[in-house]
Amino acid sequence: MASPLPFRFDAGHPALDFLNTRAGPDDGSDLLTAAPDAVWRWLEAAGLLPERGASGAEGGAGALPLHRLLLTEALRLREAVGDALEALRSGAPLPAPRVHELARALEAGVWRRVLERPAVAGGDGDAPRVRQRAEARDVPGLLAPLADAAVSLLTTADPGRIRRCDDPRCRAWFLDTSRSGRRRWCSMARCGNRAKAARHYRRTRSSRSDAAES
Ligand SMILES: [Zn+2]
Repeated sequence: MASPLPFRFDAGHPALDFLNTRAGPDDGSDLLTAAPDAVWRWLEAAGLLPERGASGAEGGAGALPLHRLLLTEALRLREAVGDALEALRSGAPLPAPRVHELARALEAGVWRRVLERPAVAGGDGDAPRVRQRAEARDVPGLLAPLADAAVSLLTTADPGRIRRCDDPRCRAWFLDTSRSGRRRWCSMARCGNRAKAARHYRRTRSSRSDAAES
């Protein structure tokens, strides 16, 4: 079995988790290129692989041409999503080529509406509900559910809540669902604590030099 890749799913939205596959400026690494089948593995881990029935597309490290094409498509989509969200955050109009890219990715899937029925017939289970399901008939179609998630973020989220980590070395994306709406860090465990430790260090150093001068 392939070794697990260190994907993060803590951004609060799958489209932002997808953007975070590219590390911050301080690191520069890219999880989508960390293994030949990394995109497939990310989609699988995120629960965003479409139904494969009609696709003829199968995963596994043996399917190298598929994975190469999937990577090319995924990198295009990631760039489009990142640019579109940056525009949204800054109040600029969405760049037309990026919208075109998103539409292309969304429309590559074959969408079906299905009725999901409660688990217990006649019981008090959940009410039936309509779900959209994607099928992939080709490689670009494999990214359709992810494109769908990105489009829904772009069209429904409060732009002020789509944030990037304040740490200039990190800049990871996250959806701020805090009550105050003033969250600064992608995660307390990563960047929040690092900033706290740096602040503490600066404080103790300045109080030590004050003491030395007096
Ligand atoms: Zn961070």
